[in-house]
Amino acid sequence: MLGEIKGLNEECGIFGVWGHPESTQLTYYGLHALQHRGQEGAGIVTSDGDHMKIAKGHGLINDVFSQDSLKELEGHASIGHVRYATAGDGSYENIQPLMFRSQTSGLALAHNGNLVNAQALKGQLEAQGSILQTTSDTEVVAHLIKRAGNVPIDEAICQALSMIKGAYAFLIMTEDQLFVANDPRGLRPLSIGYLGDSWVVSSETCAFDIVGATYEREVKPGELIVIDKNGLESKRFAAPIQRTLCSMEHVYFSRPDSNLDGKNVHASRKRMGKALAGEAPIEADVVTGVPDSSISAAIGYAEAAGLPYELGLIKNRYVGRTFIQPSQELREQGVKMKLSAVRGIVEGKRVVMVDDSIVRGTTCRRIVKMLKEAGALEVHVRIASPPIENPCYYGIDTSTSGELIAANHSVKDIETEIGADSLAYLSVDGLNEAIYQGEESMEHGGCTACFTGNYPTEIYPNTVLPYEKA
Ligand code: AMP
Ligand code: SF4
Repeated sequence: MLGEIKGLNEECGIFGVWGHPESTQLTYYGLHALQHRGQEGAGIVTSDGDHMKIAKGHGLINDVFSQDSLKELEGHASIGHVRYATAGDGSYENIQPLMFRSQTSGLALAHNGNLVNAQALKGQLEAQGSILQTTSDTEVVAHLIKRAGNVPIDEAICQALSMIKGAYAFLIMTEDQLFVANDPRGLRPLSIGYLGDSWVVSSETCAFDIVGATYEREVKPGELIVIDKNGLESKRFAAPIQRTLCSMEHVYFSRPDSNLDGKNVHASRKRMGKALAGEAPIEADVVTGVPDSSISAAIGYAEAAGLPYELGLIKNRYVGRTFIQPSQELREQGVKMKLSAVRGIVEGKRVVMVDDSIVRGTTCRRIVKMLKEAGALEVHVRIASPPIENPCYYGIDTSTSGELIAANHSVKDIETEIGADSLAYLSVDGLNEAIYQGEESMEHGGCTACFTGNYPTEIYPNTVLPYEKA
């Protein structure tokens, strides 16, 4: 039985620019496009070639940065981070990028993911005399880099990366170099593009479109890209393994206008909806989706079922994602503030309500109630992903198994619990087929561990540091 890991989860976005006089502004705009990946904190570190400067804070990009604070940060290279953290993990120190200064150089790190051996490494670092300033996994990597001793920095980074396990997309910057790394399984998305002569790196390709950059390619699993005044060099810190990109990126997390491994997210969500209509058809009058993340799947379902797609639910703008609010009570209030059912559309109708996923079941229960209160005769819930039965250890907050409704309840029980007239989920095969469309790589597919329990890495590996006690 796997242990609970509440508090370790975070899901974030990272963005970086190398070789542009307005790198800070561009990073600000890039982070804005990644805001959906984290709303609790944001930061930017900029280098002018000699010095690095940092600005970070709690809240949305617009709360953290002003025209003046961005001016303070001017330089040709920047890395930025938007952060989502669960309760108890949201302290100022943990907001990224993390920046460290030593007598020789500075080091800034921005990380998306979760290290599964961070606790073991922290224990060993502390036993060997390191003083950790944050509770963030990311700091462990800074210590590992610094402790590699008198070797070139790219070697030190490769050594550090080979010691950490789990999911990580990293941007690491010194005064005169930018390093970009993706974990050996490429669990989290990370792409590189260009803007004139400058390089741009982003968790999602939607941010390239915002700053006018052109997508070049994905950062490969186990790859370390080194960018400096001599250009770009690709190195490896780990042998290539089958990529297991997080399937929840396609299901829920990424923006529909992003491409993951060249596959448009809206298009894969639409295919999920179509597959769901094939697997779980139902007599109904209209199909509606839960805005925004389920609209693509609902359109796919309606198209395949030959039913009209209607805006049966409207999202009230300017209310953050339900998950941002720490307590259950606030979450429930959030859902109420966020969505309304459109009586003129659902009254007297048999409604298929498509949602992308069920985590705790709160959202679905409220929406079914809302649709019925607005006069829907029947509400058939169709979920465009399989039941989430297992916690995620790789940086997506799918909670502890105690809170995951599908970990403890059958589909029939959940149907009753949320008050639906019927409930059906997409199968794991249906999900894989919708994302990969029968490609060769589908043999292994992306990570589906929260659905299947088949984790692509060890969960609590106990890595031993190679250093002698100081
Ligand atoms: P729940 O009320 O807990 O069942 O939340 C389910 C809703 O949260 C779904 O409709 C998704 O749109 C959204 N969701 C799914 N996974 C996550 C996640 N890891 N973080 C935030 N929201 C999520
Ligand atoms: Fe994504 Fe689920 Fe795998 Fe976590 S366990 S990386 S949420 S597919």
